Amino acid sequence: MAAVDINDPASTLNDDGVDAARAAGHQPALTGCPWHDVNEMLQAAGLRPTRQRMALGWLLFGKGARHLTAEMLYEEATLAKVPVSLATVYNTLNQLTDAGLLRQVSVDGTKTYFDTNVTAHHHFYLENNHELVDIPDPHLVLSRMPEVPEGYEIARIDMVVRLRRKR
Ligand SMILES: [Zn+2]
Repeated sequence: MAAVDINDPASTLNDDGVDAARAAGHQPALTGCPWHDVNEMLQAAGLRPTRQRMALGWLLFGKGARHLTAEMLYEEATLAKVPVSLATVYNTLNQLTDAGLLRQVSVDGTKTYFDTNVTAHHHFYLENNHELVDIPDPHLVLSRMPEVPEGYEIARIDMVVRLRRKR
């Protein structure tokens, strides 16, 4: 399979899906430069670094660990004069999630946050501010785990502890 030249403008305009062959064996070489790192992360995940993915990735990953809804990212993109539609933001967030670069955290079944921290951790949900915050202790465990039906295993436990201000 022919390698895609990332400097070729045609390849950055082509907005297609995951290219598994590219992902195989490519480890991202992160340097701390957000633009370079986003490019590396996308390519390591088998996603072409299109202009839109680069711009959205830069907004997402350039500021440390974050929890954003599609609407929040769309607003940031609009403020940063990145020409994208809300549908593109949704698609990109889903592609990044499928590629393992983001983790989805659902609250209320209506609000979905995208977390740039994909390691195992739980969340506080601040009901008053509609804000998701990491619970600092990653080793927090339930003292009694539920019985798992025959033939299944626990893939992951997502705990959202809802907080509200004391009256
Ligand atoms: Zn988190």
